[in-house]
Amino acid sequence: MSITRRGFLESAVVASLATGLNAQDKNKTPQPSPPTSSAKQPIIICSNNGRNYLDDAFLFLRNGGDTLDAALRVVKGPEDDPNDDSVGLGGLPNEEGVVELDACCMHGPTRRAGSVGGVRNIKNVSLVAKAVMEHTGHVMLVGEGAERFAVAVGFPRENLLTDRSRKVWLLWKENHSTDDWWGPGMSGPQWKPPTTPPQSELWKERIQRVEERAAQLGIEPEFRAAAIRRVLSPPTGTIHCSALNDKGEMSACTTTSGLAFKLPGRCGDSPIIGAGCYTDQDVGSAGATGSGEENIKVAGAHTIVENMRRGMSPQEAGMDALKRIVRNYNNDMNKLKFMDMTYYILRKDGAYAGVSLWEGYSDTSVHKIAIHDGTRRSQQTVALFKGVSHEFPPFPVTIPPELKEDSVYLK
Ligand code: ASP
Repeated sequence: MSITRRGFLESAVVASLATGLNAQDKNKTPQPSPPTSSAKQPIIICSNNGRNYLDDAFLFLRNGGDTLDAALRVVKGPEDDPNDDSVGLGGLPNEEGVVELDACCMHGPTRRAGSVGGVRNIKNVSLVAKAVMEHTGHVMLVGEGAERFAVAVGFPRENLLTDRSRKVWLLWKENHSTDDWWGPGMSGPQWKPPTTPPQSELWKERIQRVEERAAQLGIEPEFRAAAIRRVLSPPTGTIHCSALNDKGEMSACTTTSGLAFKLPGRCGDSPIIGAGCYTDQDVGSAGATGSGEENIKVAGAHTIVENMRRGMSPQEAGMDALKRIVRNYNNDMNKLKFMDMTYYILRKDGAYAGVSLWEGYSDTSVHKIAIHDGTRRSQQTVALFKGVSHEFPPFPVTIPPELKEDSVYLK
């Protein structure tokens, strides 16, 4: 999902932006759940950005590899990929242009956990989280201490800011310097929904200005549309993975560069055991991507596992966590439409579900969960609300078609 809290242009909710809400108004009760899985093990589930790394990890798991190591194999792929700007190397930086990474892991068989938050200069923070679990008497290390620990146990220090991510940050800095994450958030009583129509001429002028500047900064033409989109509406991005073997052992991890252009030191839900990730192999495992601030407040992953312990199906357990987010906003759709959350849920018998607040993000993509249980596949998540979440500040109605091709950035 994507939110910026203080609008450069305070924009109104217009017809096209209300698509999801209208659908929801007509469907106040979530649709009956289609079955999301048949139980099978071994099995690995993850957010769809891990899909390409599932084959190798599944083979490893089927051949007797540890469940946490299997999950880490999945998330290490995007962490190493400089073209994936949501995690690890090449992740979009904080507002000062510094990449800060968060990760955590839980190892079911030994009932241990490790976590790191706000780590600079170390690419594979998921592995650092595992090292915290294995080499310290602590569960969580943050900031400079976490970086020094990582170096001490052998991780190389490297510059995580790729040239492309640096240019996107510079573009944001130059064009968004009055539109950042300072000031009260949507959960504050004084927050007001935007009031200026998104189709305003000001939007067109703004996009044109950002586009010209992107060209001057040397952002390659094929990445320019994606860069502009990131500047106008800073994205989040994360990968979660849970694994279950045929002995009934389970583990999981979540890793992220967090919210783009965040305040230095901001930790989202991803490194929080019980929010971004939680595993109890007596019951199941869950992880999250989306609005970290909202997920922390409902301790999403832990809530889901505890719901399953009390007998809910994976899908029911996830839907309940989503409804807690909705409750935190007193069902105020003027705010809920700007946030999103996806949960990836695996029960100890191999039953799984992917659930999300909205069906997709903006009008560019639907939320998916990736699965490998002998067959690798992706499935659309089951959404609580019909329609898609919206950019904040709202994008113009007449969004240029080329700006919708968000995925080009990663090609
Ligand atoms: N949950 C992550 C965070 O808030 C971001 C994401 O999932 O995309 O840092």
